[in-house]
Amino acid sequence: MGKRPLYKRVLLKISGEALMGQREYGLCSETVSRIAEDIRAVHELGVQVCVVVGGGNIYRGLAGAAKGMDRATGDYMGMLATVINSLAMQNAIEKIGVPTRVQSAIPMASVSEPYIRRRALRHMEKGRVVIFAAGTGNPFFTTDTAAALRASEMGCDALLKGTKVDGVYSADPVKVKDAERYRQLGYMEVLSRDLGVMDHSAISLARENRIPIIVFSITKPGSFAEAVCGEGLYTIVK
Ligand code: UDP
Repeated sequence: MGKRPLYKRVLLKISGEALMGQREYGLCSETVSRIAEDIRAVHELGVQVCVVVGGGNIYRGLAGAAKGMDRATGDYMGMLATVINSLAMQNAIEKIGVPTRVQSAIPMASVSEPYIRRRALRHMEKGRVVIFAAGTGNPFFTTDTAAALRASEMGCDALLKGTKVDGVYSADPVKVKDAERYRQLGYMEVLSRDLGVMDHSAISLARENRIPIIVFSITKPGSFAEAVCGEGLYTIVK
């Protein structure tokens, strides 16, 4: 029997670092292609998919600020980095036959559509993947918050955060051998224990709009589709 998705519409958040593969910086095309395959697998289940991509593999505003750059300027550079990643992701997804649109929160008419909520919804209804680029369009925010914001605006049934590990642990599983992986957590618990799932504003927004956050490993092929079907390893925050 085929997999049965639990959700009709989901938002996938991937960090810029997830696109680096084994590299120290930038994009690894094999990794981008593999993640595109994972997105196609979920799309083929009949699930509407939208994506928010980070930019940390190229630039982070805080890193610039630490070296004396104006924070807001650094943040705009970080947002531009997410546009580069979004175009790479779009290219990889379309190459394998799934129509994809990029909508940027910072208007960039020559390379992407501007962010228009109702148009994004229409794209998804027509079976297109929508990638939201440039975060929220505002400095001092993160792409995690952008993911929670867009998931709320799109009425997504779940926000899936693809990370390097397969869930939320009691301690760093790379350093602590018997760290425990949680199957389920409450939003308030994540906030009060500062469990590092996403930043606090992202979690608060998801909580307010009752959107479960599912943390799973994006490095393991097929795990996005598994998580969407309630299978495999993940932590759900709800
Ligand atoms: N950023 C921003 N506003 C946003 C989203 C992102 O200013 O709404 C900037 C910020 O400088 C951030 C960078 O873009 O450091 C890259 O995003 P993020 O660090 O969230 O990427 P990730 O860690 O997911 O790769």
